[in-house]
Amino acid sequence: MQHALTPTQSDFEPNMLSGLNPAQRSAVEAVNGPVLVLAGAGTGKTRVLTTRLAAILLNGLASPFQIMAVTFTNKAARELQERVSALVGRPTEGWFLGTFHSLCTRILRKHAERVGLKQNFTILDTDDQLRLIKQILEAENVDTKRTPARAVLAVIERWKDRGYTPDKVPATEVTQSGLYLKVYQIYQERLRTLNACDFGDLLLYNLVLLQNNLDLLQEYQHRFRYILVDEYQDTNVVQYLWLRLLMLTPDGQARNICCVGDEDQSIYGWRGAEIGNILRFEQDFPGAKIIRLEENYRSTGHILGAASALIAHNRDRLGKTLWTTASEGDRVRVQSLWDGESEARFVGDEVESFQRRGMSLNHMAVLVRAGFQTREFEERFLKIGVPYRVIGGPRFYERQEIRDAIAYLRIILVPEDDLAFERIINVPKRGLGPATMQQITTHARVNKIGMLEAVRQLLNTDAFKPKMRTTLQTFIRLYDMWCAQLQDLPHTDLTERVLEESGYIAMWQAEKTPDAPTRLENLKELISAMSEFDNLQSFMEHVSLVMEKTSSAEQEQVTLMTLHAAKGLEFDLVFLPGWEEEIFPSRRSLEENGMKGLEEERRLAYVGITRARKHAIISNVANRLVYGSWTNAIPSRFISELPAQHIETHAEAGMFGTMNRASFNSRGTSAAPAEFAQSSVMSSSFGKSHYPARPKTSFIEGRAERIEDEPTYKFRKGDRVFHQKFGYGTIELMDGPKIEVTFDMGDTKKIMAEFVVPESLAGEF
Ligand code: ATP
Ligand code: MG
Repeated sequence: MQHALTPTQSDFEPNMLSGLNPAQRSAVEAVNGPVLVLAGAGTGKTRVLTTRLAAILLNGLASPFQIMAVTFTNKAARELQERVSALVGRPTEGWFLGTFHSLCTRILRKHAERVGLKQNFTILDTDDQLRLIKQILEAENVDTKRTPARAVLAVIERWKDRGYTPDKVPATEVTQSGLYLKVYQIYQERLRTLNACDFGDLLLYNLVLLQNNLDLLQEYQHRFRYILVDEYQDTNVVQYLWLRLLMLTPDGQARNICCVGDEDQSIYGWRGAEIGNILRFEQDFPGAKIIRLEENYRSTGHILGAASALIAHNRDRLGKTLWTTASEGDRVRVQSLWDGESEARFVGDEVESFQRRGMSLNHMAVLVRAGFQTREFEERFLKIGVPYRVIGGPRFYERQEIRDAIAYLRIILVPEDDLAFERIINVPKRGLGPATMQQITTHARVNKIGMLEAVRQLLNTDAFKPKMRTTLQTFIRLYDMWCAQLQDLPHTDLTERVLEESGYIAMWQAEKTPDAPTRLENLKELISAMSEFDNLQSFMEHVSLVMEKTSSAEQEQVTLMTLHAAKGLEFDLVFLPGWEEEIFPSRRSLEENGMKGLEEERRLAYVGITRARKHAIISNVANRLVYGSWTNAIPSRFISELPAQHIETHAEAGMFGTMNRASFNSRGTSAAPAEFAQSSVMSSSFGKSHYPARPKTSFIEGRAERIEDEPTYKFRKGDRVFHQKFGYGTIELMDGPKIEVTFDMGDTKKIMAEFVVPESLAGEF
C-alpha cells in the first residue's frame, strides 16, 4: 500500500530543483545531518522545506511515511500540503505533514494506553477545562473568587508548555503553598478517569511517551528518517524537547533534520515560544550546517526596504541583509484618514480599484492586530458587495458574544422573540434547568403567547420553585426597566446597561478563558458600531441586513485575518489598517512586557509588511471610535520607523496639519515618544474630547467623564468652526442649541453647537 502512494519519477515537477538558487539548493541537497535555514521573510524557506521533502522522495531515500514535516497553524499546514502535493504530483493524505498538534494526536492515539488513556480519548476545550478545575478547587474548599480557575489553568498550561508533568515541576515554581501543583495533580488524574486530555497534553504526553518508553523512542527514531520543521522560531519548550528526542541518536549525534525559521518573525512569545531555541541550534546539534538565504523572492524592492528598515529597530536579533532582483515596485503607501469609517471606505475603494485593474480578490488581504478590528471592514465589504472571508474565526456579527448581546436587544424590542429569549434566559447561567424551560414552553404554546409573557403569567401562580421564582422575578424586573429606558437613554448607554445588569459582562470577566478579553473587546466594538446609528431600531435593521448576506466559498474573496494568522502566507496586495499607538503596538503588550513586548509587536509589523508581494498599504486614522467614544489617535511609532525613500504618504482630502499629524513624520525620528507606552493616550485625549462624553462604567473602562466646565462659544452664522470628526466648516444656520454647518469635506450637517470649537482653537485638540 505504501508503494502505491509513493510517487514515481514521472510524477515530480520537472523544474523543481533547477528553479532554486545555490544556497537554497544546498539546503535541499544536504539531506544528511542537521541543517538550519535561518533566513528572512520570503527568501524561500518553506519552498526549501517542501522541495527537500520532494527530493528525498525523488531520490528514493525514504517513503512518504518515513518523513515528518511539521508547522504551526492549520492554514500553514494546508499550504505545506498543497505545495508538496504540487511538487510530487499527488495528494499527501495520510502522510506525516501537519501541525504539531495534529501529528501528536495521531501518535498518542496509537499508544494512549501507555499514558493511562484509551485510544478513543476526547480532547477537552477550554470551557471543559475550566469547569473541571473549578470543581477541583471547590472540592478543595478553595475560594474561586480569590483563586479563579482561570488563573490556575494558566499556570498549569505554562507548565505543560515547558514540558513539566506534575512530578517534574521544579520547586522554584511551586507557590501558593503547593495549591496549584496539587490541583495540577488532581486535574491530570481526573482527566485520565474521564479518558480525556487537553490541548497541552497532546504534546506533553508525546514527550512522556518518548522519554519513558525506549522501544517507542527507537521505533519513531527509526521510522522518521527525515524530519522537517517550518517556523522553527516559534517552537515552545515542550515541542523543542520532543523534537530533540527524535532528532538525536542515543550518543548525541544529530539525525537528518532540517529546521527553517526567522528569528525576526517570532511572534508567539506570549504563548511560551522560545526564540532561544533557534539561536541555540548549533550547540544543540553538533555539526549543524547553517544556511542563510538572502534573496527575497516575494516582495518588490520598496516593500522589502521598508520592512527591513523597520525590523532593524529591534535590538534582540541576529541581523541580516535581504535583497531582491525584483523591481522597486510601488512604494509602501501610508494613508492617513479621518476615522475608522473613512478608513474602511478607503480600503473598500482600493479593493474595487485593484479588482477593476485585473487583480483577483483572492490575492488581497486585510491584516489586523486584533480580531475586533475586522468589523468595520466587514460592514464596508457587505455594503459594496465585495465577498470576503474571515480566517481564524467567525465573522463579526456571527461571534457568540455579539449574537448573545443582540439577542438581549431583540427581546427588548420584540418581547415575543422566543428565539432570543431562549438564547439569553440562561446566559449568564441563572439556574434554569430543562424542567423549568419545559414549563415555560408548554405554557407559552398552550396559551399561544411568547415565552416571556408565559414567565410573567406563571409568576402569578405557584408553578415555580421558590428559588427559581426569585430568579425569574429579578429578570423580569430588570427587563421591564430596560424596556422603560428604551425611549429615554441613548441606545448605546442602554446596551451597556443591559450587558452590565444582566450579568453578561461579569460572566466573561469571570470566565477568564484565554479568549475572554477578545470577547470583551468585541462587545466594546459593538457599542462603537451602534453609536454610528441614530437609534436601536435602525441599528438592528442594519444587523439583520448584514447577517443575510453571505458569500459562497467558491467565489473569489478578500481575506480578513489577524497578523498572527498570516504568518507564512503571501498576497499581492496587503492592507495594514489601524497603525495607531494603543492598537498597534498594542497597549496590553507594552504594559505587560515592556521592551520585549514592543519588540514582539515590531516583529509582528515586519510579518505584516512582508506578506505583501506587490502592494502594501498601511493606514492610520486621526479619530478612532473606541468603545463608543472618540479618541484622538496617534500614528503608530512603527510608521515613523519606515524610511522616507520607501514610502509615500497620503492624507485624506480635508485633513489638516494641526491635528495629530504634527507628531507624524516619515524621516525616521520617533513620532510617538516612548512615554506613550506608559501613559494612557486614550484618557489624555478623552480629556479634550468635544464629543458628548458619557459617565464611566466598569465595563467600558477608560471612558471619559463629562467635562463640566467646558466653555461654550457664542457662534454666529458665517463663523468658521472645527469639528473633531468632520473637520473644518462654515456655519450656515443657527437653530437654538443646534447649528447647521457646511463642512469643507462636502457634507452639510445639523449638530449641537457644543460639539464644535472656533476654527482658531482647532489646534488645541
Ligand atoms: P516566510 O518567512 O514568510 O515564511 P519563506 O522564507 O518561507 O517566507 P517562501 O514562502 O518559501 O518564503 O517563498 C516566498 C515566495 O518566493 C514564494 O512565492 C516562493 O514560491 C518564491 N520563491 C522562493 N524561492 C524562489 C526561487 N528560487 N525562485 C523563484 N521564486 C522563489
Ligand atoms: Mg515560510
